[in-house]
Formats: sequence, structure tokens, C-alpha cells
Amino acid sequence: MRNILVASCIALCAAGTALAQRGGGAGPVRFPTPAQFKASAEAQRIVADAKKYAGTDLQWHYTNVCSSMGPQRVALALEATGQTLKDYTVEPTKVFDNVWYVGLASQGAFVIQTSDGLILIDTLNTTEEARDIIVPGMKKAGLDPAQIKYIVLSHGHPGQTDHTGGAGWFQTTYKPRILMAKEDWDATLPAQRPERPLAKRDMDITHGQTLTLGDTTLTFTTLFGHSDGSLGIFIPVKWRGQSSVIWLHGGGLHHPTRASLARLEEVVNKYARPMGAEALMNTHPGLYQDTIADMAAIRKNPNGPNPILLGRERANRYWSMVLDCARARVIALEEAAKTRS
Ligand SMILES: [Zn+2]
Repeated sequence: MRNILVASCIALCAAGTALAQRGGGAGPVRFPTPAQFKASAEAQRIVADAKKYAGTDLQWHYTNVCSSMGPQRVALALEATGQTLKDYTVEPTKVFDNVWYVGLASQGAFVIQTSDGLILIDTLNTTEEARDIIVPGMKKAGLDPAQIKYIVLSHGHPGQTDHTGGAGWFQTTYKPRILMAKEDWDATLPAQRPERPLAKRDMDITHGQTLTLGDTTLTFTTLFGHSDGSLGIFIPVKWRGQSSVIWLHGGGLHHPTRASLARLEEVVNKYARPMGAEALMNTHPGLYQDTIADMAAIRKNPNGPNPILLGRERANRYWSMVLDCARARVIALEEAAKTRS
């Protein structure tokens, strides 16, 4: 059943190269083709120069962040080579002292524990997946779904429900408040599919807004480019009592225009760096780091160092690499557009 669901999602969400270039979901092109990227001398110069940030310890990240496509979902990357991801339910994992991952290998949800209840980030594809994967995962982890006070949807696409599909069921079953960027409520609600009903519109998120529940404050930014309202969520985390911050970027690193790139630069320089963010995360494991392996390492050695956290010094090099290579992709796209006209 799981494989069939994934296969059908892939068929719907990313059939062929053209859609793959759009990075899942309909909409404008989000990154240059490998040929366009290579053809831009300026993009290549920037990417070569960005390598200095990788040192010996961020080579995987350099390859991931500085390709023509930037970070890609594992399922889509496999699909591009004619393979299908064999999906499965991941053992619920306490990725930080206050954050759990529950869900599938292809995608899932984060549960943030606060002193006054739970915040759920994303809801899988459907009612059935929310009810039969997220809820049992939470219960296995000792988390009571009735304690979910807020659900934050990292983004949504018209007609595609991989983050939003379970929200309606949670809304009627446990009555949490539901938040998504205003732009993505606007885009997704009129395009609902009858078999994938969305949550009723609840709270709009705008750029720079915060949400406090008990002892925990989330900071939201909106990073348009993947969808019009993909969220960058800054989440305070603890690992063995030490405080840190992670940045959940719902929209990949799709910043194909100057305006979108400028927003990314603002979020890196005014949020990520000053807040001391130490990792980029997504509810699709594997997008920004080998999350499945990291979670296995955490389960095996829950008292060891947290492999997800880069540490401040490495994170700052990582953010520089992210910005430079996003800029290189915009330049390659602009040059390709000029060549066409
Ligand atoms: Zn998406």
C-alpha cells in the first residue's frame, strides 16, 4: 500500500523532467538545468569559489547545496533516474530533547514538546496517513495527539497535499489551531481535490511573525520561490540540555528570482546567523542532510553528539555556501532567459 501511494504521488507530482525541474508541484521553473548552469561562467565562478566554505567537513553539503538543482527530495532524485523510493514507516525518533520525528522515510512530521502542549509541523498526505501513521507514531513516542495545540503547515501547493493532507482530519478530531502562510492558504483552498479535503482556513502566517506556546517561541519567515508562502521556521531546540536553534525551510532552496533570493539573504543574515541556527531541516528527510542515517545514529546512541547540528562555526560556513550557490542558480537562470530572448 505504501509503495503504491508513493508511486502515485511521484506520478502526480513529478512526472518527467519538466516537472522535476519545478521541484514538485506545478508552477514556474525553480532552478536551471545542468546545461544552463554549466553554460554560465559567472555561476561556475561563484560555485567554485563557494567551495572554500566546504573545507573537508562540508563536502556532502557542498555537493547538495551547490548543484544546478540544489537540494532535492530523495524520491524525486530517484525518480529522475527511473527508480522508485521504497518507503516505510520510520521508528519515531527523539531528534532533540524537545522534538520528535514521526512518519515515513519519504516524509513526515515534527512534534515539538512545550511546557503547555504540542506543536505539530506538517501532516503527511491524507486523513488515513495522519490517523494511521502520525497518531500511532506519536502514541509510540508517548505523545498524546489530544495535546496538539497548533499545527503549522510548512507550505502547500494547489492540488498537492504532501504536507497539508492530514490537517483537516486533525482539525476536526483534536481541534488544534492551524497555521499556514497567507499566500499558501490563498493558493491551495480554491484548488482542493474532493478526495483530499484541506483544513478549514484558520490562522495566517506573515513574514516575521512568532508563535509562543508555553516555554517555546517559534519564529516564522516566508520564503517564496518553491510555493508563494513556504515557511522558514526557526525552532529553539535542546540537545542534552544545551540550547540551539534549527531552521526548518519548507521550500527546498528554490529561490529562482532576485526578489526570492533577497528574501533568502535577509533570512540568513537577519535570522539564521544572529539566532545561531545550526541546521537546515525539512519534513522530507534527506533533503538537506542524511536525516534517516542521522536518526538511526541518534536512536543507537541517544547520549552522543547530535549529528544534525552542524555547530556554530560550520553552520556559518554552510549559510555562506547556501547563499552563494542560490545566487549562482539565479544568475544561470537569468543568462538562460537572455539567450532565449
Ligand atoms: Zn512543496
